[in-house]
Formats: sequence, structure tokens, C-alpha cells
Amino acid sequence: MSQGQKFLDDVTGRIDDAAKKLNLDRGIHKTLQTPRRSLIVTFPVKMDNGEVEIFTGYRVQYNYVKGPSKGGIRYHPDVSLEEVTALAGLMALKCAVVDIPFGGAKGGVACDPKRMSMDELERLTRRYTYMILPLIGPEQDIPAPDVNTDYQTMSWIMDTYSMLRGYTVPGVVTGKPLQLGGSKGRATATGRGLAYVAEEILQRLNMSIKDTTVTVQGFGNVGMNVARFLHEDGCRIVGVTDMSGGIFNPGGIDVPNLVLHTEKTKGIRGFAGGEIVADMAEANRRLLSMKSDVMVPAALENQITELNASEVRAKIIVEGANGPVTRGGDDILRKKGVQVVPDILANSGGVIVSYFEWVQDIQAYLWSEGEVNSRLKGLMTGAFGQIYDFAEERKVTLREAAYMLAVEKMAEITKLRGIFP
Ligand code: NAD
Repeated sequence: MSQGQKFLDDVTGRIDDAAKKLNLDRGIHKTLQTPRRSLIVTFPVKMDNGEVEIFTGYRVQYNYVKGPSKGGIRYHPDVSLEEVTALAGLMALKCAVVDIPFGGAKGGVACDPKRMSMDELERLTRRYTYMILPLIGPEQDIPAPDVNTDYQTMSWIMDTYSMLRGYTVPGVVTGKPLQLGGSKGRATATGRGLAYVAEEILQRLNMSIKDTTVTVQGFGNVGMNVARFLHEDGCRIVGVTDMSGGIFNPGGIDVPNLVLHTEKTKGIRGFAGGEIVADMAEANRRLLSMKSDVMVPAALENQITELNASEVRAKIIVEGANGPVTRGGDDILRKKGVQVVPDILANSGGVIVSYFEWVQDIQAYLWSEGEVNSRLKGLMTGAFGQIYDFAEERKVTLREAAYMLAVEKMAEITKLRGIFP
């Protein structure tokens, strides 16, 4: 079975479990387990050498019962319809968990951006935007950055959409630069939100943040920022991996310098502040079995599985990536007593501040960074408290609690709206 199909089965399986625990009406249960719209596009892009390459892209709107659908765009060789559908489902659950008026979507293009020039990436992005035009719009479906896409990708999408409409439409994407209607605090929001929930769970478990040791898998937008914020909180970051390998230092990695090094060299490889493991797979194995209080997987899905979960030595996992722990992995972690703060809560900081960006675009009014961060903290700690208390009361894991609360909210809205026609 492909990794994408496995991921999708995990997401729909978890929705199924939640719906059964809630005794949900069968019709609504089936509605929540299937995506509403899936678009596959195949399109040519002229490469720098004059050759034409054909790319396949996707945009899936899993559910828009709560409002316009929302979700990032991923550029990666492994992007598939199943992976994008699973990610779109997680977005729908995430928006429900933190009570923002969006449904869930996701998009992606199967490509290897590391081997493409900026000009090629611009042409690919503009053509992909054109191909998914029937689905996107500020009141319909609003893309954002994900793996290997960033503020520049969002600028090209915003410009292409605006050119085709004939006027400037900032609200069509989030994660834009400030000059184009971006929000203060958006670039670091996912990492900041992860740090907020890490602080909350440590407090509930009577653990002091100052003595906490942390490992981070993936050092991109999410991993780098969560490492920065937890380091500022006084945590010791003892292991980090990315595609270029890993770096380990039980005394604590100098995170600000690792960030500078990574921004300059596009990877953590070559950083002289700890023991280096050059092979990515070996570095990830070592990270997984390293003794720590908190582990933040912030790379890709399906990283902690039934095959390696027994090796985990962290007490708490805070999921930065979407779907880093499989259902099989979850069972083992539960038996080992490892607390997992699930992705649909833990990494929701990005979509929350994307919501704030969209609100600011619609109002054409810029909020201060303090206002953005304090509203983010309010929504995330509120959702954390609700999920934690529900989990204690119902004797379920934090993931089961988050899924049950999200599914219940989406089911209530679906019931109120009724089934069309
Ligand atoms: P990114 O492209 O900025 O960074 C990805 C990082 O992971 C890079 O450092 C890369 O080298 C590393 N990586 C890739 N494969 C790896 C592997 N097998 N082992 C170790 N490291 C590996 O992407 P990002 O935006 O930081 O997203 C990371 C994860 O977080 C994804 O699952 C994404 O869906 C999720 N997420 C992102 C946001 C956001 O705002 N960017 C929000 C919520 C969730």
C-alpha cells in the first residue's frame, strides 16, 4: 500500500473511531468520512533548458460545511491524491478543533523543487494556480504555504489570481509577505503555537519548562521556529534532524546559531555545535530513540509507526508535522504511556494566524503583532484546555478527544444545515 493511502486510511479511520464513540447518525458519519471535491490537473511547464515537462497537481476540498475551505500547498516528489486528501481532512478537523470558520482543503504538485530554478518554480506555480482557478477564491478556498512552498510562492499565486480577475485580491491566499497583505506573526505562527501547547502540557504534568529536553525532526518553517521559541523558554534542544542529516548535543544546541547556519546553507549539515550524523535515516533513528522530555516531529507524515514506536524514549510528543504518528504507532505509544498532543491541535497556529490574515485582508486593516500573538495564544490554550479536560473525563487519549470534539462540531453544523437538496 502506498504511503499516501496509508495516511488517508489513518485519517478516515480515526474519524470513523470518533464517530462510533459519539454514536453519530450514520448518514452524517458517512458524510464526514468522504471529501467533497477533488481536482486533478496535469499541465506543461517550460523548463530553463527549453524542454517541456508535464506535472500533476491536486486540490482537494475535504469539507466546507463551516465556511470557505482552507489549507496549504505542498511541492514534493511524493505528493499524491491520497496524501492531499488526508491532509485536507486534517485541515477540516483542525479548523473545527480551534473553532475558526473554515472548512479543510489541501493542494500539491508532484515535483522536486530542490532541483528546480526560481524561474521554473514561478512558471509551475502560476500555471498550477491557473489550473485550480475554478476552486480557489477568498470566499471559496484559500491556499497557504506547506512543505517547500513559502511567502514567494503565495505572492505568485496572489498575483496570478489577481491578474486573471483584473483586480488585486489579497484574500485569495495567506502566508503572504506583509507588503502584499500578509499578517504580522504568520511566518512563525505554527512554531509559536506548538510552543504554547508544549508549555500547557508541561504545566499539566507538573514538569518545569526550564529543565525540559527537546528533540526536533525537520528544521524548516515549523521545526526551526518551535526550536527557537522553546529555546527562548529555557528548554535544552538536544537533537535536530533534517534532510541533510542530524546534530546531537546533550548539553543543548545553540539554536540561534543553528538557525543562522541553516538559513545560509539551506540545511543543518556542517554546523559545528554538536555531534553530526550525515545520513538522514540513521539520524532519524537516533533522534527517535534519544532520551528526552519532548519530541517534536516537524517533517512529514508516517514517521513514527508500528515498526519504530517502541523505540521512542520521549515522555511527550507534540506533533508539528501533519500525521507524523500512524494509528499503529499510536497504539504502541499509548501502551508505553507517551502523551501525544495531536497535530490537529498542536500545529493549528498556522491556520489560526492564516484566519487572522484573511480577516485583516477582508477588512483592509492591519493588526499589531502583539494582538495577533495574544489572540493566537487565547485560541490555542482554550482549545488545549477543552481537549485535555475532555480526555481526562472520558478516559481517552488527547488525539481521541480532539477528534471527538472536532467530529461532533462538524456533525452539529451538518445536521443544522441538512443534506442538500
Ligand atoms: P518546510 O519545507 O519548511 O520544512 C520541512 C523540513 O523537514 C526541512 O527541514 C526538511 O529538510 C525536513 N525533512 C524532510 N523530510 C525529512 C525526513 N524524512 N527526516 C527529517 N527531516 C526531514 O515545511 P514546513 O512548512 O516546516 O512543514 C513541515 C510539516 O509541518 C509538514 O507536515 C506540514 O504539513 C506541517 N505544517 C506546516 C505548517 C506551516 O505553517 N508551514 C502548518 C501546520 C503544519
